[in-house]
Amino acid sequence: MTQVSGEDLKRRFGTRAVHAGHIPDPLAGAVMTPIYQTSTYIQEGLGRPRRGYEYARTRNPTREVLERNVAALEGGRHGFAFASGLAALDAVLKLLSAGDHVVSGENVYGGSHRQMTLVWARLGLTFTFVDAAETASIAAAVTPRTKMVYAETPTNPMMRLCDLAAAGEIARRASALCVVDNTFATPYFQRPLELGADVVLHSTTKYLNGHSDMVGGMLIVNRDDLAERIGFVQNAVGAVPGPFDCWLALRGTKTLALRMRQHDANGRRIAEWLAQHPKVERVYYPGLPSHPQHELACRQMKGFGGMISIELGSVERAKRFAEGTRIFALAESLGGVESLVGHPASMTHASVPPEMRRAMGLTDSLVRLSVGIEEVEDLIGDLEQALAAAG
Ligand SMILES: *Cc1c(COP(=O)(O)O)cnc(C)c1O
Repeated sequence: MTQVSGEDLKRRFGTRAVHAGHIPDPLAGAVMTPIYQTSTYIQEGLGRPRRGYEYARTRNPTREVLERNVAALEGGRHGFAFASGLAALDAVLKLLSAGDHVVSGENVYGGSHRQMTLVWARLGLTFTFVDAAETASIAAAVTPRTKMVYAETPTNPMMRLCDLAAAGEIARRASALCVVDNTFATPYFQRPLELGADVVLHSTTKYLNGHSDMVGGMLIVNRDDLAERIGFVQNAVGAVPGPFDCWLALRGTKTLALRMRQHDANGRRIAEWLAQHPKVERVYYPGLPSHPQHELACRQMKGFGGMISIELGSVERAKRFAEGTRIFALAESLGGVESLVGHPASMTHASVPPEMRRAMGLTDSLVRLSVGIEEVEDLIGDLEQALAAAG
């Protein structure tokens, strides 16, 4: 079990990002963490591994640096890396048993919803999906069997917020775990553990790595008992990332603070620009005063990042716009240094049933932008020409 040092937790965010979890390589003193590309480690005698490492599913030094680094960024004491964000979700749901009930936001990542309804429901977990932006709806869905409250905030792609302090309190009263997917906000802008969550989940594929060149996931906790149980699942099930992917993610987190400041500055400028554009019917961005939960956003987030959704009014227009950008690349995923455009109804959220998409306001004419760190004038110029061409 990897534990973050108290020294690391005392430092400020940007310093933690660069240094937390790192230990100079004992062989050569390499400043950067080596990629320990090995499956096994020498033993000095029977049952006597030289440095406590026996087999790389259980422990790998590159992975452990990443685990300590991201845990420190979330203000947590224990981190666990997984092969993907969905593998991290799989691991956290394996803390439950058949018959247990989960209250989940209805607006969660499409793949998370698919795993819950098409894998876990078949294996005996039960789910109630609620609008997690309504605290009362979360509370009303709790039953004596509820063992987990699962939320994502801001949600993808509707940018609805869940009041994390309130959700944590509901979970605590029900003796249930509060699990928060913090992929969109990142610990630079929002720290769920400090607001009462028990577990933070990440797709490191997105902002944490930030360069769109690996797939990975993380779970972060403060409680030692939970760390024990998650560490058991991580090793017993084995959905661990390889050392090279851990190294890439670790290279990414070093610049997280810098990148998030730029995503946020660009995101705010572009959201304001879109909000006054006559061809854009609606802009979903928590940083805009017109966002219905702007006050909550200011209370629980330190910034708003680069994720923006826009309503273009017709499917044809949305399609022409998404296919017409030149800098924004049409692709799934988000959170990289490069700007992306996506059509949730046919891409990321295609696996969510159409009735459910409609109920949450996810129309076929909604387009999602992941604003990168390029020069904002170039990005606005690109959106301008694509909107003009979309008719
Ligand atoms: C991408 C994503 C996931 C899933 O992560 P993978 O790394 O693709 O498995 C989960 N939650 C959110 C919010 C995501 O954006």
